[in-house]
Amino acid sequence: MQSNEKLYIDLHCHSTASDGTDSPARLVAHAVKNRVDVLALTDHDTIAGLPEAKLAASQLGITFIPGVEISANYGTGEMHLLGLGIQETVQLQAFLQRMVKNRDERNRKILAKLNQLGFKIDLTEVEAVAKGDIVSRPHMATVMLGKGYVSSRQEAFDLYLANGAKCYVQRDSPSPEECIASILAAGGVPVLAHPIQLGLSRKALIQTLLHLKAAGLQGMEVWHSDQNGSVQHDYYELAQMLDLLPTGGSDYHGSNKPHVAIGRGIDKNISITDHTIVERLLKQASDNQKNILRRFLMKKVLLTGFQPFGGEAVNPAWVAVKELTGKIILDHEIVTGEIPVVRYAALIATERLIEEYHPEIVINVGQAGSALVMRVERIGINCDDYSIPDNAGNQPMGEPVVPEGPAAYFVTLPIKAMVQEMNLANVPAEVSNSAGTYLCNHVCYGVSHIAACKYPQILTGFIHIPFLPEQAAGKRGRPSMAVTTVVTGLEAAVSAAIRYRNGDINAEGGAQH
Ligand code: AMP
Ligand code: ZN
Ligand code: FE
Ligand code: FE
Repeated sequence: MQSNEKLYIDLHCHSTASDGTDSPARLVAHAVKNRVDVLALTDHDTIAGLPEAKLAASQLGITFIPGVEISANYGTGEMHLLGLGIQETVQLQAFLQRMVKNRDERNRKILAKLNQLGFKIDLTEVEAVAKGDIVSRPHMATVMLGKGYVSSRQEAFDLYLANGAKCYVQRDSPSPEECIASILAAGGVPVLAHPIQLGLSRKALIQTLLHLKAAGLQGMEVWHSDQNGSVQHDYYELAQMLDLLPTGGSDYHGSNKPHVAIGRGIDKNISITDHTIVERLLKQASDNQKNILRRFLMKKVLLTGFQPFGGEAVNPAWVAVKELTGKIILDHEIVTGEIPVVRYAALIATERLIEEYHPEIVINVGQAGSALVMRVERIGINCDDYSIPDNAGNQPMGEPVVPEGPAAYFVTLPIKAMVQEMNLANVPAEVSNSAGTYLCNHVCYGVSHIAACKYPQILTGFIHIPFLPEQAAGKRGRPSMAVTTVVTGLEAAVSAAIRYRNGDINAEGGAQH
């Protein structure tokens, strides 16, 4: 685009793919006509409009930033998170497909409530207005207005559709943390949309931003049609203070919000012309993409924890293992999974995780209610002899885990080095010479067998951990260990397993009985 007049940036717009009224291509043409030279399409919960918009933008010569606006659950309402500079990955598509489903469920409930009040509206009419996959409340408002049930679309919201109004139904949306993780996994920059709409005090907003930042938030929408000049000024300072990228956009919806102009907001209340904002945003997206590749190429250590059993509300193994998800130890990424306390199903679940992550090391972790310390198991035996049924009701009494399998497997992890390093980290730990004959032994033996047959390059083994204090409380004489201690112990165990993968240390780890 030529001329020395200002060109505007608009990083928040909707098309017919969600609840805007311009097709993606028309939206791009409309942007160009209004002197917007950097445009992000951020449809609600869908990326279906991106290919069309991208093509139109390249034909018309403006910068296009692929985006999405995802609704998260937030108290009794919603929080909107923008993903800017995203890649259209299969995982993101699948995540958004779940959102379409929870929308459909909610839409049915809203329509049932409207029908009860005597309004004759059915889903097909609303879908016809919506055109795309995303059927939302503004489409319902349009149908209600068309049928003369209300005198304006705003009235439809105020009386029936708005949060708290007669026919409002909350969606079963994902948490903000899940949305942020999905955006990051697609290489996008997660941005809190229109913070003003959260209705928080300044102090509460800062707390929320800090919390979201810890979950991976990288930006906040400083400039938005709903945020006036002084709010924009304040938010800009907040963004600087919290080291979040400032972004902004009109939230243009076409004739669904006729007062909002693309690039300029309401009565020209926004004017984003500083193109270094776009440079910083694109740099962050590119860093995010590099990180994904680095993680993908990084070696993995798989830790599993069991589901609860034996009447316990939690299983300390999964509680502790879950804490380590995504952590990097000696250039290895920790990947984790929860496995069922069910004979064979536990092995199938572990093998599925191995297939998914291709780990170098597998450590299954289980609860041993009587354990005094963390116990690194030496051996798994070919014997299922259950003193209580597993979670599916199986209670074998002395059957082999693998008929025809060897009597036992020594684990392949460097157990002595692991115990030594755990103790050096001030975590009580010892070598154990029996994993019992229940699920923990089943997995210790079974995973050893699977590795021996199919993945000889993978080191495997098993760690037993005591009850958590909250489990032991009230059970007289039961030992316990705090989850932070267990987590420290597991980190030390992983670190030793990596460093001594080529050979264990020579140390004593026996027992006299
Ligand atoms: P949905 O995606 O079905 O939850 O609908 C969300 C959209 O409804 C928002 O993007 C707004 O455009 C519109 N909306 C939500 N609340 C109101 C309200 N109180 N008044 C007018 N429009 C609203
Ligand atoms: Zn919208
Ligand atoms: Fe929004
Ligand atoms: Fe929006």
